[in-house]
Amino acid sequence: MKNTPMEEINLIEKNAIDIVIHEENCSGCQICQLFCSFTFHKVFAPNRAYIQIDTHEIIPRISFLEGCTQCHQCVKHCLYGALELRENDE
Ligand code: SF4
Ligand code: SF4
Repeated sequence: MKNTPMEEINLIEKNAIDIVIHEENCSGCQICQLFCSFTFHKVFAPNRAYIQIDTHEIIPRISFLEGCTQCHQCVKHCLYGALELRENDE
């Protein structure tokens, strides 16, 4: 049976660290996007970020774009627990 968005956990690998996404915790605040765009483009522009937050759904959808360096700035500045770093045991 397919998981609902709230049950979904997405993983993005970075060496031994994964970014775990908890979309059900996302407020849509876009702080992650502001940090990402400023880090890489020196502008506060969500559409320039390598993490995208789609707020058209009740629960925002979170995705990472090609070009993401896995620097984890977005994770470190998410205040709502929607992004989490977790060691990858594999
Ligand atoms: S992932 Fe975190 S920082 Fe980004 S929009 Fe959602 S709550 Fe805000
Ligand atoms: S990990 Fe770094 S490059 Fe990737 S979306 Fe987050 S801040 Fe941007």
